[in-house]
Amino acid sequence: MTRDIRRHRLVKEDLIYGPLLSRRLGRSLGVNLLGAGEKVCSFNCRYCQCGWTAQPILQVADPLANFPSGEQIATALEMRLQQLCRDQIPIDVITFSGNGEPTLYPELQAIIKAASALRDRYVPRAKLAILSNSSTVHRREVRDALQGIDLKLMKLDAGSDALTRRINLPAKGWDFATMLQELAQLDGVLLQTIFVWGRVANTAPVAIREWSDRVAEIRPLGVQIYTLDRVPADPGLTPVSRVVLDAIAGYARRRAHVPVEVY
Ligand code: SF4
Repeated sequence: MTRDIRRHRLVKEDLIYGPLLSRRLGRSLGVNLLGAGEKVCSFNCRYCQCGWTAQPILQVADPLANFPSGEQIATALEMRLQQLCRDQIPIDVITFSGNGEPTLYPELQAIIKAASALRDRYVPRAKLAILSNSSTVHRREVRDALQGIDLKLMKLDAGSDALTRRINLPAKGWDFATMLQELAQLDGVLLQTIFVWGRVANTAPVAIREWSDRVAEIRPLGVQIYTLDRVPADPGLTPVSRVVLDAIAGYARRRAHVPVEVY
């Protein structure tokens, strides 16, 4: 049996959103570093719930262009945390996510430090998390910034360069081998993988074997696998059945020797 796909796209209009009940993170307060409107990303994933990326980039050319300032984001986060405290609404995690790849934000380390201080002040038991596509881990400043994050949820959708390029359509200059090497050096990584069927599929036996072997090389704390939940940019994709997801999880646990959960 295949899952139903929710029929609306998700482009965030606010800097701070939620808290939302996340299947993977609990009560999550989202921080959209990249601002309202169009997404900014280094990938152009066929399954993206925000639609296609206008121009995939690995680094922003003009750090001052079109992004909310660190001060604007920190102020919006503090106001929201104050309101949540007043209303006694608990949160489990503050998550950097939103319209695209959050590590493209030019002041990443500064905003993570500011969010960490606000977390300590208002919600000391909450964790800081980031949802990243892993494409920028070759950059020293990104790796340094990620040190301040408790839960690093990093994308790995395939175990080969060719299949990753077909699914994620990365920006020019992206390098699969470098990404793998740097992911393996990062502490506290939780890998995330979406499995899809249709125009491009990553569930063939050889694809699952290659992906499991890359997971074993990265040695993450765990792996979260899932399938389409919302309408994808590419209408030629369909969700994978739960039976197949469970079979992939079982195989990867045995081959890579890491915890693998289906969401
Ligand atoms: S990395 Fe995320 S935001 Fe970027 S295109 Fe892929 S799914 Fe969309």
